[in-house]
Amino acid sequence: MSLLQVRNLGLWYDTPTQPVQALDDLSFDLEAGQTFCLIGESGSGKSTAALSIPQLLPSPPAVLAPGSSVLLAGKDLAKLSNRQLRRVRGTSVGVIFQEPMTSLNPLQRAGKQIAEALLIHQPRLRRAGRIARVRALLAQVGLEDPRIANAFPHQLSGGQRQRVMIAMALANDPDLLIADEPTTALDLTTQKQVLDLLKKLQQERNLAILLVT
Ligand code: ADP
Repeated sequence: MSLLQVRNLGLWYDTPTQPVQALDDLSFDLEAGQTFCLIGESGSGKSTAALSIPQLLPSPPAVLAPGSSVLLAGKDLAKLSNRQLRRVRGTSVGVIFQEPMTSLNPLQRAGKQIAEALLIHQPRLRRAGRIARVRALLAQVGLEDPRIANAFPHQLSGGQRQRVMIAMALANDPDLLIADEPTTALDLTTQKQVLDLLKKLQQERNLAILLVT
């Protein structure tokens, strides 16, 4: 069985004027260690598809079409409670976004944000263990300089911020990484570095990647 099985996924946005159908009958499979790319013009529903898998779209306005199912390791995410979903999102699924500033807290140092991602889902990890894990995660995403952990997001370059966000998404060892246009906001050289990094992490962790581009 595939890690991720999306079946007949349909989604509407309930707007004040009229409902907008953003997805119609989308089905695909994604295996561990593989990448599935969603490619299409602006407005074709790529982000909607990516974000509806971990049920990240607020409802209202988003409404799943009846018969939609999103099976992750056999569990239907469309049928979980909010509490169960929060656990899945922190541990089995990591999400990275186009603009790291929207998911990083501007008032918190980078290392602290990664530590909090660990704290929420691994509360029994001691402080020293957390600090070591943050350092290891930063090293894995190519941020060896110890000053990075103490920097605020605005003190980092776009590429460094993206790497911090990837470290956060990977903090709890997810099986699936959803990347919604992870390189759009970066210059070409940095785009290539971030894609190479994702590929390296995928090979190291047998990570399934859903990439919107
Ligand atoms: P893409 O990622 O391919 O650019 P989106 O998933 O963002 O496409 O959008 C798909 C369609 O859904 C578009 O027609 C867009 O206008 C519409 N849409 C997206 N978000 C909302 C929303 N919150 N309310 C109403 N319509 C939306």
